[in-house]
Amino acid sequence: MHLLTGLCFRVRIEEQRGRRAFCKMENNGIKAIIFDLDNTLIDTSNAGVVALQKVGELLKSTLNLNDGAVETICDTFKQKLYTEVLDSAAGKSIDDIRTVHWEEAIRETAGAQQMSESLGSDCYKLWKSSRLQLLTMSLEVQALLRDLRTKYRLLLLTNGEAQTQREKVEVSSCEEFFDAVVVGGEQEEQKPSISIFRLCFEMLGVQARDCVMVGDSLDTDIEGGLKAAVRATVWIKTTWATESDSIKPHYTISDVLELPRVLAELN
Ligand SMILES: [Mg+2]
Repeated sequence: MHLLTGLCFRVRIEEQRGRRAFCKMENNGIKAIIFDLDNTLIDTSNAGVVALQKVGELLKSTLNLNDGAVETICDTFKQKLYTEVLDSAAGKSIDDIRTVHWEEAIRETAGAQQMSESLGSDCYKLWKSSRLQLLTMSLEVQALLRDLRTKYRLLLLTNGEAQTQREKVEVSSCEEFFDAVVVGGEQEEQKPSISIFRLCFEMLGVQARDCVMVGDSLDTDIEGGLKAAVRATVWIKTTWATESDSIKPHYTISDVLELPRVLAELN
């Protein structure tokens, strides 16, 4: 072989080896990342707090109530929200159900005579619009997702009632950052069921071992990821979260922006 041709050949081989090594280093054998939405990519808890404050101000000015009574109404609404049961057979939308939450919360605290016909609906509309307005992904999170998408397939997997979660996905302009979006309320079973994870693997065209699951809930995101046998689970530990004796994530971080460090460790 001519000396120069041989040299070029060797350089080409070295380049190919280098590229392969680079790809491996970049992807760590991981092909896809599955993200939770609420309190993982968007600050749903804070949006909820601010939305309740806004409704509190409305109640105070409309009903002339003191701070304690307003707080009780807001707490009662929150309680009803956490324990609500969606009965699609009854033909009620999530908007109807949550409007009734406000009506009941006001009636139970301030009495029926205090309430105008539209107050429950006004409270609900203000709560919903204020909350949605704050459910945007920060520029840093957007940049992270854009960067990750150059190396991995990304899927958004969010639990919850279909309309509510779709509205969040829409206002946060999430869809453009992901290869697929799966909403628990539209499926037979939600996280942590294995079936919804299998659906995600299928949509991504990957195996469980090719995936990393990232989320703030031990009970749904991490337990689901562990049961589905993903390569690694990454727990976003919020300030109010407590560790569990039975559900042990592979990695724990306090902010999704720390994810690249975990991915590098997975190498
Ligand atoms: Mg969450």
